[in-house]
Formats: sequence, structure tokens, C-alpha cells
Amino acid sequence: MTTSPAEPATVVVVGSTNADLLARTTVHPAPGETVLGRDLQVLPGGKGANQAVAAALLGARVAFVGAVGEDEFAQAATSGLRDAGVDLSRLDVVPGGTGVAVVTVAADGENAIVVVPGANAAVGAAQVRRHADLLDTAAVVVLQGEIPRDGIEEAARLAGGRVVVNLAPVIDVDPAVLRGADPLVVNEHEAHAALGLLEHGGPTGAELSDEDVVAALRRLGVPSVVLTRGAQGALVAGHGVDGVVAVPSPRVAAVDTTGAGDAFVGALAGELARGTGLVDAARLAARVGAFAVRGSGAQPSYPRGGDELP
Ligand code: ADP
Repeated sequence: MTTSPAEPATVVVVGSTNADLLARTTVHPAPGETVLGRDLQVLPGGKGANQAVAAALLGARVAFVGAVGEDEFAQAATSGLRDAGVDLSRLDVVPGGTGVAVVTVAADGENAIVVVPGANAAVGAAQVRRHADLLDTAAVVVLQGEIPRDGIEEAARLAGGRVVVNLAPVIDVDPAVLRGADPLVVNEHEAHAALGLLEHGGPTGAELSDEDVVAALRRLGVPSVVLTRGAQGALVAGHGVDGVVAVPSPRVAAVDTTGAGDAFVGALAGELARGTGLVDAARLAARVGAFAVRGSGAQPSYPRGGDELP
């Protein structure tokens, strides 16, 4: 297939997809205790799926490399991807269960979460290698920390275009993955962890300002860095960017920040695939992240192409 300039660019997300079982409670159960919950919801989740959905809803052509199990949760884990028009031809069905997150949300809004990786644990080097053709031709490959380390490393190696690495959750990857990240997208906690990985377990620079952490990551060989800072937006640095640029987030009434970081990463990847520069892509991603905190849940809170962004 030839790609004409009018066609949306290609983003390939290699990552996790889960069914999120969400129950609301007044308080979280203490160990050994049972509490009553209400409003059980079964929602599509997983950082990889969230990011793929965010990019696709904004118009990018997205394919997802991941795995589900042979159980009833597979449908829930992929419903959002399907609705958003993500190409699922590279989704594997493996023996055992689909990834599941069991989430309780207390009245104060605090989450307690148990994640069972299930089929996501199968997205290792061998599975990823079977999609080498797709990874080689993608404009942007997006990676996060919810699949095995060797899957992330193999996908980074096989990527023919730009690689966006979201080190969330923090996973002990080969520092070469971070040195190939363009950009590395991290929140403040993850930024310090990334610094530790690049310094081979050395000091994590806990005393450094966000600007200093970004500069240190650049010095240690990361081509570009986007540090997300919740309501404060993001810091951006890298080749073609003058110093460390602060990108503000629009002021919004936050309802639920679940999945805001994933909305940011998906939107950023879609924009980069379109050829937008890093700072402008981060400006749009910050607006998409702000949109996402105005609604509850992850994927259900993401903007569609026609939605007006804050
Ligand atoms: P993570 O959830 O991964 O820690 P952040 O909390 O930094 O990520 O959120 C990612 C992005 O979402 C931010 O850069 C920002 O653009 C947007 N965002 C998050 N929380 C808010 C908020 N309270 N108000 C406005 N924008 C927000």
C-alpha cells in the first residue's frame, strides 16, 4: 500500500490492554475487611490501549500490537480500541486470561488498584518480532512500561521511525531504549527514575528542579524529553528546541485525572506522526490531557476529532 500525503500518518502502539473492573466504595477495605461497593463498571483500559485510543480518536491511523486472553474480558479490553477504529489485526489471542485491573474508588476520590497482567505478559520479544514489518514502516512507535522488558527493547530496536517512550510505570529497561526515545515522556517521579537508570543506579537527583532533571536527561543522551506536570502542563526539550520550553495546560475543573497522561502521550504521538514539531505537539497534547481530566475514567473521557479542546 502506498501512503499519499493526504492520508493520516501511522502510529503503532506496542503495549497493554486491560479490562478495568471499577467499584465505588465509601472507604477502601482494610486488610481482612469487607466493604460494600456500588456502580460496578467494566471499562476498557491499559496504558497501551488508552494511548492508541487517544491517538485514533484525534484522527491518526493507529495499529495496536498487544495480546488478550481466551476469556470474557477480552471483549471489554478491546471495545474502546475497536470503537476508535484502531487496527487490531496485530492483536494476539493467547492461552490464559486477559489483563485485568481491579480498581476501587473511595468517596474521597482516592484509587486502590490491583493489576493482573495476564496476556500482556506475552508481549515479549518473540511476539513483537512477528510484527517487524509494521514496526519498520511506522512513522511513530509508542512504548510504555506495562509489557515485558524484552518486548519494549525489541520494539525499540525494530522501529524504523520515531520512538516515543513513556516510562510508565517505571520498568528497568536497557538504557539504550531511553537513549533512543524521541521523546521520552515522563512525569516528575518517572523522570527521576529514568535519570537513575541512565546513571546506572546512581543518584536520582531528587534535589534537582524539573528543569534540571530535563537538562540532565538530555546530557545523558536522551534525544528529547517531555516532562508532564499535571495542571502545570509540561516541560519540553530536545533537538530543535531552544533550551527547556514550558508548555502550559489550560485551566479546567478536574473531575478525574485517570488516563490523562495516556491521553497526552497518544495525542503527542499522533501529532508527531503528522509532522508537527515537538513543542507544538506538546501544546496540543496538554490541551487533550486537560480535556481528559474533565470527564471520569480514561478512554471514555478522551476527545473525539470534532470536540472543542480547552
Ligand atoms: P500522569 O498522570 O502520567 O502523572 P500528568 O498528571 O502530568 O500525568 O498529566 C498529563 C497531562 O494531562 C498534563 O501534562 C496536563 O496537560 C494534563 N493534566 C493533568 N492534570 C491536569 C489538571 N488538573 N488540569 C489541567 N490539565 C491537567
